[in-house]
This record gives sequence, C-alpha cells and structure tokens, in this order.
Amino acid sequence: MHDRSNELAAWDRDHFFHPSTHMGTHARGETPTRVIGGGEGVYITDTAGRTSLDAFAGLYCVNVGYGRQKIADAIAAQAKDLAYYHAYVGHGTEASIRLAKMIIDRAPEGMSRVYFGLSGSDANETNIKLIWYYNNVLGRPEKKKIISRWRGYHGSGVMTGSLTGLDLFHNAFDLPRAPVLHTEAPYYFRRADRSMSEEQFSQHCADRLEEMILAEGPDTVAAFIGEPILGTGGIVPPPAGYWDKIQAVLRKYDVLLVADEVVTGFGRLGTMFGSDHYGIRPDLITIAKGLTSAYAPLSGVIVSDKVWQVLVQGSDRLGSIGHGWTYAAHPICAAAGVANLELIDEMNLVKNAGETGLYFRTELSNALSGHRNVGDVRGDGLLAAVEFVEDRDDRKFFDASRKIGPQVAAALLERGVIGRAMPQGDILGFAPPLCLTREEADIVVGRTAEAVNAVF
Ligand code: PLP
Repeated sequence: MHDRSNELAAWDRDHFFHPSTHMGTHARGETPTRVIGGGEGVYITDTAGRTSLDAFAGLYCVNVGYGRQKIADAIAAQAKDLAYYHAYVGHGTEASIRLAKMIIDRAPEGMSRVYFGLSGSDANETNIKLIWYYNNVLGRPEKKKIISRWRGYHGSGVMTGSLTGLDLFHNAFDLPRAPVLHTEAPYYFRRADRSMSEEQFSQHCADRLEEMILAEGPDTVAAFIGEPILGTGGIVPPPAGYWDKIQAVLRKYDVLLVADEVVTGFGRLGTMFGSDHYGIRPDLITIAKGLTSAYAPLSGVIVSDKVWQVLVQGSDRLGSIGHGWTYAAHPICAAAGVANLELIDEMNLVKNAGETGLYFRTELSNALSGHRNVGDVRGDGLLAAVEFVEDRDDRKFFDASRKIGPQVAAALLERGVIGRAMPQGDILGFAPPLCLTREEADIVVGRTAEAVNAVF
C-alpha cells in the first residue's frame, strides 16, 4: 500500500488543531505526528508499522482492549437498523433503554436513573445544572456553590474546567471562579507533614472542607465533587479514612456528593464502581470512558433516587426539564455500551483488574522503589503511578522546567510501551486495558525500569 505518512503529517501540521497539545511545536513539526492505524488487545500500531503496548488504554478508556469484534458488530448492526433517533420527550431505542437498565443494575445502591451525554465534561455540566435545579425546587436558591479539590479533574468545559483543579486547564482562559471553590487535595505524598499518619491527613482534609463550608455558609454550599481516586491530578489513592471523614462533613451540612467515576466506573479498581471500592455513597455519579470502552462517545449522570424524587417535583411544577443534547443516548453509542458491558462480564474483567492490578503494582514497586529518584509508587486496581523526585530522602521535587515526567514517558515509548506523563508534577501514569495479562504487566514493568535507568 502507498505510504501516506508524510502527506498525512503535513496535512496534520497545517490543519488539525489538536486538544491538549503545544500549538507552536506541533505546527512547526517539532512534535512528531503519529498516525495510529490499528489496535488489537493491549497493542496499537501506527502507520509506520511501529507497535506499542498501550499501558494507558488511550486516555484510560479502552477498558476491554482494542479490536473487539463483538462491539464492532453491535455498532454496525445498529448503524444499519437505525443510525439515529433522538431521546427527547420520552423517545428511546432498544439499545438506550437496555443500557440504562444495565447501568442501574450495576450501580451502587440507591441509584435510580441515567441521564446520557457524550463526554465526561458534558456529564459534569449536567451534574451542576441538576444540582442547581434540585436546590431551586427545594426552595433554597442560595445553595449553589460547588466544592471540588485541587488536583481534581472534571473536564474542560467552562464550568467543568473551572471545577478542574489543575493550573494548565485554567491558564489564560479566565474561567469563572464563582461558584466553584477548591479544597485540599487528598495527596498524602505531597501535602502531608511527615509527622502525620494517613488518618491524620484525612482528618486534616475533612477539617479544611468543614472550615470552607462554615466560612461560605452551609446554606450556600450545594455539592462536593471528587474522583474516588485522583486521576489526572497524579493517580493518587485516597489516604486511609478519607472518604468516611469527608462524607461525615457533607452529611452534617446537607451537601450533595458527586462521585466523578469517569475513570473508575466499570471495573478499573477491581469493583464495578470506585464508590463500591471506597465505601462512597454518592448522590450523583459521572460515567463516561469505560461505559463504551471508547468504541463510541457516551457518558452519563447516574441520579440517585433521593435526587430524582426532587427533580420529578420540579417537572410537576415547571414542566419539561430544559436540558438536552441532540446526541444524548445516541443509538450507535448505546449499542456499543450494551456490547461493552456484556463483554466486561464475559471476559471477567472487573476481577482481572483487581488481581492483575495488584500483581502489576507489586512488581512495579519491587522494580522501582529502591531507585533514588523514585519518591512514590502508588495506585489501586489497574491504575498506577510512579512519582519522580530529585532526592528521595528530602522529598525534594524537580523543577518543572526539567520535564522529567515527559522524558521518562518518551524513553518508555522508545521501548515500545505507552505510559502517560501526567500534566502536573513528574509523574508517570499507567491505566492499561482491564484485559492486561501478567505477561503483559511484566513487559510494562521491565521496560519502565529500563526507561527510568536511561533517564537518570
Ligand atoms: N472526569 C474525569 C475524572 C476525567 O478523568 C475526565 C477525563 O479524563 C473527565 C471528567 C472529562 O471527560 P471528557 O474528556 O470525556 O470530557
């Protein structure tokens, strides 16, 4: 076949405005274009013929792995039967209705309805609107502020970018500050005094949250949003006792809890939801990525019965809810979702994420923990991170300009494995497909150790 790589690279440089990309280096050709042509299992192949083990599952989303015939067939069949019909005013398709039922069957206790969207960002926008609507229906128009955490990631929209607590996503955008507030990140390795136990640091986080609610006035604080385990902010598991202590504060002041499970939903931590894993009882849950394993874009807000009952009162008083997307519950995406959830069960992937995840993280820790520039090896389920430091004993961090994280990720890619340099801090992240085998985990660990030794 004619190799079109050079032609595509030129068109890419000249016409494609990429997300989360340095615009100048890309347009000047300094960030090489990589054209991905195929994928099978945990591997992707580019059009230059190079194969890489994708240990980040795209963007933590291709959970069942690449090239699954069952999902491709479901998408093709749905496109042929009915490519599109909207979901407004009670319309549905068999796929969207079945998918809603399958999600609620798998969701934590007390969940009632699914509101479909296309991306994690739009689902979190929906969350905010539902929370405001909820408090208006309850006659509490002042109760509107949303608390998220530094280092939290909740999307790139206007409101959701504002919720995101990472500098890069705020730079030069002038996102609205109000009504969003950021509280302490549950990041024991970076934020805790060395004298503190994890439990003490969790108490410190809960105390900061309570102080914030009291300072703002509990009557003005509507909700708290958090990922069960911090994801894009550094892949940081919550310190011991964190969610119990946070939930106690939220209950005390009647503040809703949104669990952003865009990364953790559908198995990544070895349980169907991260909320099950950490004992979280959310009022709303955000889902996306693993819902379709990214075979088609689909997201959702899972609404608890408690919230749903209030929303229904709203409709009885105000009429239809004025919130909807053209592509909500798109039939092709819903068909992908149904096939994907079936495949997760058939391949026993939730269990595998727990078991192979533990194996992977143990081996990663054994291989790297002794290295003088490795400050922390952490994770849960099939999420893992290695944090690099200039000096392990002093916990001295590298200057950001040295770009240590990207250097290690590049050295790893040269060795045929994709990890992700997380956007803030020198952190190499892993979130492989949930079908990862022990042999594949060994490859990731071995190549990572080589990459680390090549950089330091
Ligand atoms: N929430 C979390 C926890 C995420 O990790 C992401 C994306 O990585 C989002 C929301 C936003 O999802 P999307 O990129 O589909 O808008």
